[in-house]
Amino acid sequence: MPLITPPDAVARGAAVRQDRASARASALAIAVCSSEGPVGAHAVAAVAGHREEGLGVGRSRSTRRRHNQPIAEGSMVARTLASLAAALCLAGTAFAQPRPAEPSAVLLENVRIFDGKSGSLSASTNVLVRGNTIERISKDPIPINADAGTRTIAGGGRTLMPGLIDMHWHAMLVRPTVAAMLTADSGYLNLMAGAEATDTLMRGFTTVRDVGGPVFALKRAIDEGIVVGPRIYPSGAIVTVTSGHGDFRLPIEVPRTIGAPQTRQEQLGAAMIADSPDEVRVRVREQLMLGATHIKLTAGGGVASPHSPLDASTFTEAELRAAVEAAENWGTYVTVHAYTPVSIRRAIAAGVKCIEHGHLMDGQTAELLAANGTWLSTQAFPDELAEAFPPGSLERMKARLVFAGTDRTFELAKKHRLKTAFGTDILFSPQLARRHGTLLAKLVRWYTPAETLIMATGTNAELLQLSGKRNPYPGKLGVVEEGALADLLLVDGDPIADITLIENPARNFVVIMKDGRIHKNSL
Ligand SMILES: [Zn+2]
Repeated sequence: MPLITPPDAVARGAAVRQDRASARASALAIAVCSSEGPVGAHAVAAVAGHREEGLGVGRSRSTRRRHNQPIAEGSMVARTLASLAAALCLAGTAFAQPRPAEPSAVLLENVRIFDGKSGSLSASTNVLVRGNTIERISKDPIPINADAGTRTIAGGGRTLMPGLIDMHWHAMLVRPTVAAMLTADSGYLNLMAGAEATDTLMRGFTTVRDVGGPVFALKRAIDEGIVVGPRIYPSGAIVTVTSGHGDFRLPIEVPRTIGAPQTRQEQLGAAMIADSPDEVRVRVREQLMLGATHIKLTAGGGVASPHSPLDASTFTEAELRAAVEAAENWGTYVTVHAYTPVSIRRAIAAGVKCIEHGHLMDGQTAELLAANGTWLSTQAFPDELAEAFPPGSLERMKARLVFAGTDRTFELAKKHRLKTAFGTDILFSPQLARRHGTLLAKLVRWYTPAETLIMATGTNAELLQLSGKRNPYPGKLGVVEEGALADLLLVDGDPIADITLIENPARNFVVIMKDGRIHKNSL
């Protein structure tokens, strides 16, 4: 308590008042920042000042005089804090309103709708978007009030479809190399991810579920309109075990001491290591506190991780259950990275709701997924991904093993009618990101074009709903229907007849709308 030495009454009184003034200014600042904006912030300054000046009321003249100087100090602290609060509020308000004026409504005339649910296009239809919502869909002309600034787009019989959704994305890890991710300045990494987010949206992906990476700042910047990009459902850091998938430490960093400084990946919030149920609970709750919409653990070995054999099962069932409990207490769910039957089965036993990848599963495991209604979020990895690793390397060998399971996994998913979601898992490769739509179109090896497009829109959106009250974008995504959120693509052609249209978004996605806002219109 250095503030109350020396122990004379004046100094002690000053310290107490300073604390009270600080607390009052802080509380007021919080209240104002969360509601009133800059006007309220000025009120904080005024209120803080008045309150301090009023402290002497009702006391004797001598007491007031004796306390005169400390009172002024207390006021100064309160005013400084209030000014800071005002500045913060002003800054928050300034950044929260960067949207340029947009028409209040957009009428898309003469479009054929792929609605994200059914496998055929509608007849010629008109769609009215107001604000961020699809207000009306009608085969008859929709009357509009031209004075109200409704913008009309002549669809010319093109296809209107929901924005695409990628359920296995790592927004912070698409462009950098592994070395850059572990060594570069976080500002640089965020700017790089911001540029990639804009490109992601321009490829027609209006929503991504991020399953690992320090993505909270990027999500905020996109939601506030500072950066153009997709909606992001973030997991925050991957939670892994010592030597698990996501532990990129060097051998010289072992042993880890509990309470020792964090590794770089932990400082960044990319991956957190947890080796007991209690540690898992801490790490999971931290991500929830930061705004995670779901939690991602790595339940088994991975291809790109230097220390994790593919066959390894990492977390114990008790550890997985600790994560599930913490997530469910927060109203959301856990998804796990898992290839092998044993890691998938253990995760299901612990209450995990979604399996990422699953490429090495067997028939019995697929039956278990079906019986429990567990989601499978998977992909057909492109061969180039294996070639990213040196010839003869362990990583390349592991990649080949996983890729060999792709066919079987999709066949099992179809046979057992698994709830199957699509995501790409593009990592450390801006070249591959440019082929985003191609990776989706590859699914026609197992599914019809309509089934493929339904998976990447309506079905993926169903899995997003597992975030429950932690869903940052309440409303319907992945469908074109009245009342749904207006994330829409106008495609120059019929993607059900020719799914390769989605491989060239620059040419074929002529309008890209997210949240009712037009981000591209090349008509
Ligand atoms: Zn991944």
